[in-house]
Amino acid sequence: MRRKLVAGNWKMHGTLAQNAVLLDAVRDGMSQATGVDCAVCVPFPYLAQAQQKLSGSSVKWGAQNVHQLGKGAYTGEVSAAMLRDFECSYVIVGHSERRACYGESSHLVAEKFLAAQQAGLTPVLCMGETLQQRESGITETVVAGQLDALIQLGGVQALRNAVVAYEPVWAIGTGKTATSEQAQAVHAFIRQRIAAEDSQIAAALCILYGGSVKANNAAELFAMPDIDGGLIGGASLVADEFLAICRAGQV
Ligand code: PEP
Repeated sequence: MRRKLVAGNWKMHGTLAQNAVLLDAVRDGMSQATGVDCAVCVPFPYLAQAQQKLSGSSVKWGAQNVHQLGKGAYTGEVSAAMLRDFECSYVIVGHSERRACYGESSHLVAEKFLAAQQAGLTPVLCMGETLQQRESGITETVVAGQLDALIQLGGVQALRNAVVAYEPVWAIGTGKTATSEQAQAVHAFIRQRIAAEDSQIAAALCILYGGSVKANNAAELFAMPDIDGGLIGGASLVADEFLAICRAGQV
């Protein structure tokens, strides 16, 4: 049975003072929790703080972006090896905000994914359709294209030590969650598409749902057979809410 993962995406939020309170609360709240994995993906400047606060606890930490190359003259960028220096476990790649605001293509996202994996990080590959794409009936085509870019570049083996997050763009930060049936249908589609290449990798893959997950809808989403936890934006900034979502993932 796949173990559930609940990962927070803080986006560009936080201060040293606010983070200290939040990280302490998440670490302490998870200290007795079993049967669920928990992580927070924080802005780059706060990786050292996350490392200092969470080392030795059950809560892992990670980043929200990474450069596709190992080093060089790329002002402002951060490499996967740098993230490993701060003992990150995870890095989010291909979040819809990065695809939309910074023009990240599925090919570039695949390069970032592989760079992260080669450095020993677990990449969290985000994919999902816009409202217009859903209403046009092309959700599966869009998600398949985002997934296939990785499989073409890295082979299906790349999904062996990885996490995928289905995040319908229309549900991110909007308060509009996909129904558990809508989410399950896309998760099952993703798993089947991977199973066509390698059924063992597909069966073991952790597929998160993201998009306005809250304490009051997490349990229903997490009860679906192909939903293996959540990628949590806004609610990951509120300790009690985030911990309640983590608890919803406990088996
Ligand atoms: C996200 O940013 O990945 C996300 C799912 O955000 P929210 O939970 O706020 O919709």
